[in-house]
Amino acid sequence: MAHDDRSLTFEETLAAIRPTWAEIDLEAFERNVDAIAARLPAGSRLIAVLKANAYGHGAVELARRCRPDRVSGIAVALLEEALELRRAGISLPILVLGPLQEAQIAIAAENDIIIGIVGPEALDLVSAHGRDHDLRIALKLDSGMGRMGFRDSEIPRAIEVLRTMPRARVEAIYTHFANASDPRDPYTETQRANFKRMFARFRDAGVDVPRHEANSAATMRGLIDPGESVRVGIALYGGEALDMGQSKLEPVMRWRTEIARLKSLPAGHPVGYGGTFVTSRESRIATLPVGYADGYNRLLSNRGRVLLRGRRVPVVGRVSMDLVTIDVTEVEDAAVGDEVVLLGSQGAETIRAEEIASLIGTISYEVFCNVSARVPRIYRDGDRATVRSSFSE
Ligand SMILES: *Cc1c(COP(=O)(O)O)cnc(C)c1O
Repeated sequence: MAHDDRSLTFEETLAAIRPTWAEIDLEAFERNVDAIAARLPAGSRLIAVLKANAYGHGAVELARRCRPDRVSGIAVALLEEALELRRAGISLPILVLGPLQEAQIAIAAENDIIIGIVGPEALDLVSAHGRDHDLRIALKLDSGMGRMGFRDSEIPRAIEVLRTMPRARVEAIYTHFANASDPRDPYTETQRANFKRMFARFRDAGVDVPRHEANSAATMRGLIDPGESVRVGIALYGGEALDMGQSKLEPVMRWRTEIARLKSLPAGHPVGYGGTFVTSRESRIATLPVGYADGYNRLLSNRGRVLLRGRRVPVVGRVSMDLVTIDVTEVEDAAVGDEVVLLGSQGAETIRAEEIASLIGTISYEVFCNVSARVPRIYRDGDRATVRSSFSE
């Protein structure tokens, strides 16, 4: 937490850090959780996917906002991510999607973490442990993604191995969709049918446990079989789950900085490394104290747009490690110290992660994940706020 909570007010804390930070709106997150939970059919529960530090938003802070009446569990990718949550006192069930290393199995078990078993090798690794220790596992099935999970042909042996592990409790059987963000793609229905058939083989062998399939996209489309839980990530953060979506969920992150330097340049003057931008008129160029080391992608050079005084202004020249230059010629009263928004809203304008993603050929997920640890996070809860900076521990 912040340097010295006891002696500094929030404003003083803010004044003592760099002016580039990401605001995380905890109430917006809670409203998204409520909105998603409200669309689930009766008997279906929400598993919050908080991997990769909650897609850059801060896993501990958001996990604390996952009320058990709304959220039945948390999923992360790595054991380290699960342990961070346990150390912070998070008591909800935590599933590690995996894969895990052999030496991590005992650690997961000691911390009451559910181990995602991604295939026969992973099951063999835990089988020794599950013979004489209590173990919570979840079985991942490959219904068509071709990545992790048991294939059809591997199910009979999996059932045999489970029988040798009396102290292993199978908490769930799950799968993951490859193409759910595209409602026209019939492959999701193929995967659902495959999963149903594969699950039935376990059920017929007496392994009748809870199931989950849907990610954000499938959840928003209502592709949820009766009784199934859902694993939702991007939608919790207000990201668009569907390719052509209009989900009305609220962006949770707002990434802002301030103008650090403002100068007039004559026509014909290059800006930044490589001189990739040359002024075509007398121009006012502002420098922002943020760069690709903060996660502002270098591919946004001469492409990105940021918000200044409620207007969109262009990034000009190369994005460098610590600095970005913008052309503010059209914003007459722009001044040093003005707030500039890289992601999120200012006035009536909004830059969504999807907009940045489409400029650089990626997806909103990567835009969020790339906001680096160098950027302090400010957690807003109504009119209260706390700062988390990687430099202040
Ligand atoms: C990341 C992940 C999710 C969440 O996906 P979103 O599209 O962010 O909702 C769900 N399940 C698995 C297995 C994942 O890896």
